[in-house]
Amino acid sequence: MSFQLRIPGPTPVPKRVQEAMSVPMINHRGPTFARAITECREGLKWAFQTSNEIIMFPCSGTGGLEAAVVNLTSPGEKAVFVSIGSFGDRFAKIGTAYGAEVVKVDYDWGKGAQPDDVARALDENPEARVLYITHNETSTGVCNDLAPIAAVAKERGRIIVVDGVSSVGSINLPVDELGLDVVISGSQKGWMLPPGLAFLSVSAAALEFARAARCPRFYFDFNRELEFELKGQTFTTPPVSIVLGLREALQMLREEGLPEVFARHARVADGVRRSVQALELDLFADPRYFSNTVTAVRAPRGDGGLNQELVNTLRDKYQVELAGGQGKLSGQIFRIGHLGDISADDGRQIISRLELALVEIGYIDAPVGAVDVYEAALGQPAAVAPSG
Ligand SMILES: *Cc1c(COP(=O)(O)O)cnc(C)c1O
Repeated sequence: MSFQLRIPGPTPVPKRVQEAMSVPMINHRGPTFARAITECREGLKWAFQTSNEIIMFPCSGTGGLEAAVVNLTSPGEKAVFVSIGSFGDRFAKIGTAYGAEVVKVDYDWGKGAQPDDVARALDENPEARVLYITHNETSTGVCNDLAPIAAVAKERGRIIVVDGVSSVGSINLPVDELGLDVVISGSQKGWMLPPGLAFLSVSAAALEFARAARCPRFYFDFNRELEFELKGQTFTTPPVSIVLGLREALQMLREEGLPEVFARHARVADGVRRSVQALELDLFADPRYFSNTVTAVRAPRGDGGLNQELVNTLRDKYQVELAGGQGKLSGQIFRIGHLGDISADDGRQIISRLELALVEIGYIDAPVGAVDVYEAALGQPAAVAPSG
């Protein structure tokens, strides 16, 4: 039985990427590495669907969020943060930590953000020049429909910052089409890489804005980092191996094609959702905003103990590692990560083993044909993903 690491990050690293990283170390200020940085930045522009600059920082996704805040706020200045879950809350906390006057637009977990609410918050706070919002909320399996929300912010001339850590490269997020100023992602989510590298697309307007913003910053300075990256270097020592892996991962994505990558995620996600429901389990997210990278499932019978038993049985007996709930959802849900290196066959294996584990813990009496439901779903056209 092959091991299935299906938490929403870190995700599996394919052999090709592992091999690209398993090479003797090179000089991070030499010509070989300069080529790698330049190719990665070009590849990321393609994957982000943008002509904006790409900036990389050696850090996790949260470091990428912090980079956005320290470059775009000034102490005491208002900023609007939209939160639909744990990662949205984290973004707002970073704002508070750096002295921003945080105007929070909060939703019940499981729901998606609404353009009218964002418009109201922006209108009531004309001094707030920056809007921070999550694209795909990994803690709840909700993917915001960003197109109408971005339109509302653009009409009002605001800078838009998007946490796309668990979506860019897996779910369509056309950065330039939506006019997103800063979009953040992280290596260990849909990019088929180990944790350790964050990358951001940054518009000319955001770079200009950063020059005037007064938040203290050192490591995460956009403009200094960009100066180095335009020369094929990074300001500090980068995770050289991950950058070499990123070049290979981007090559794999190019070979498949972006629309095909998005469609693969949508198909597997749709199959997983339908078969999970066939297993008499309930999905957590508002069906209008289902995420195609992570599915949150309510605990069997709402029982936290049984939920843990299911996760343990899957891991210990069936070689499938799923995630529990974060923060206030601990014990209330489990989450299936289906992003990055995930095939239709991987989805089938997850479902068939989930079914066995549910029988084993006594939640269902006998198999219900969940794999057939999965197969049937994959035979149909994939559900349409949110526009952005
Ligand atoms: C994973 C994740 C983060 C944080 O990333 P770390 O690498 O754990 O710091 C932020 N936002 C979203 C939406 C994520 O999925």
